[in-house]
Amino acid sequence: MSKESIYGMTYDQLTEWLTSHGQKRFRAEQVWSWLYKKRVASFSEMNNVNNETIELLEENFVLHTLEEDIRQESKDGTIKFLFKMADGNLIETVLMRFHYGLSVCVTTQVGCNIGCSFCASGLLRKNRDLTSGEIVEQIMNVQKHLDAQGKDERVSHIVVMGIGEPLDNFTNLMDFIYVVNDDKGLNIGARHITVSTSGLAHKIYEFADTDIQVNLAISLHAPNDELRTSIMKINKAFPIEKLMKSVEYYLQKKNRRITYEYIMLRDVNDHREEAIQLAKLLHNHRHLAYVNLIPYNTVDEHIEYQRSESTSIQAFYETLKERGINCGVRWENGADIDAACGQLRSKQINKKKAI
Ligand code: SAH
Ligand code: SF4
Repeated sequence: MSKESIYGMTYDQLTEWLTSHGQKRFRAEQVWSWLYKKRVASFSEMNNVNNETIELLEENFVLHTLEEDIRQESKDGTIKFLFKMADGNLIETVLMRFHYGLSVCVTTQVGCNIGCSFCASGLLRKNRDLTSGEIVEQIMNVQKHLDAQGKDERVSHIVVMGIGEPLDNFTNLMDFIYVVNDDKGLNIGARHITVSTSGLAHKIYEFADTDIQVNLAISLHAPNDELRTSIMKINKAFPIEKLMKSVEYYLQKKNRRITYEYIMLRDVNDHREEAIQLAKLLHNHRHLAYVNLIPYNTVDEHIEYQRSESTSIQAFYETLKERGINCGVRWENGADIDAACGQLRSKQINKKKAI
């Protein structure tokens, strides 16, 4: 069996592992600091750690399971990484530059079983969940890339919006969050981490019960069941009413604002009527709601969907605003480098198939 990535363990798990293997507790703090502060490339660089501990780590763990397959840089500074995992599967990670910091979009599954009709990731059914180590390693690789540029830049924000449904890989997702949030290591603030879900209501309850204040985004994309089911088949299992019940529970527990993502699909969900319905749906929670209108990135395999006209996006935005709903339009980053979720990966896989 291949060795596990050391990045998969939370601080408590690493402490527990080391002590159960006869090591002193303080070794965990040393190792952690080498991993996440000094960001070493090998265990042997941990020069204040005794040889016995280093050998033990080398025998049981690895520091690299991802290999960079492709790196594309956009004119606006967005960088898209395609990583090959130890089993040959390809995943995407994107670094985006904003005025407030550097944000990384991570992948949580190889493919996605939710199968939304507009999405490039859903074209490939889920092959497996990523381990927590593979999710953390995406951040580490991007951070190491930044370190190598020597500009003292740091990943400050994370969006879990890459390939996959994060709440369908719940334990690994939470371990990942605990690792990157740890203040002895990367120290990325919980409020700077956003998890996006297609609306797995039963998992939203679980997420609400966690002890960490991470942001939640829900991919709503339609204000009524008929339309939502036609573009997101998950709506059959978790229709809007069920979803909104879990939202109420989340709001009660966390009292934190939820972002509702709404892709603007031309002539599908972008009429005034849908904006009015959406405003009604969110009316009771409007103080803790933010609607993110996302101009659709066209996907070659889904020619039936087009991006809404900018006049329709503007009109939709204004209808929501008039009704007291906080909202904004997310103009995309990296449009010249296939930045939409899953696009680079699906292109690469198709290219490889064609060869
Ligand atoms: N599976 C999760 C997270 C990954 S998708 C989810 O669905 O929320 C992240 C966001 O990108 C979702 O809101 C998704 O609907 C959106 N998205 C998918 N394909 C897109 C496309 N082609 N253009 C714009 N947004 C897209
Ligand atoms: Fe999966 Fe999200 Fe794409 Fe839907 S939008 S298929 S849930 S990755």
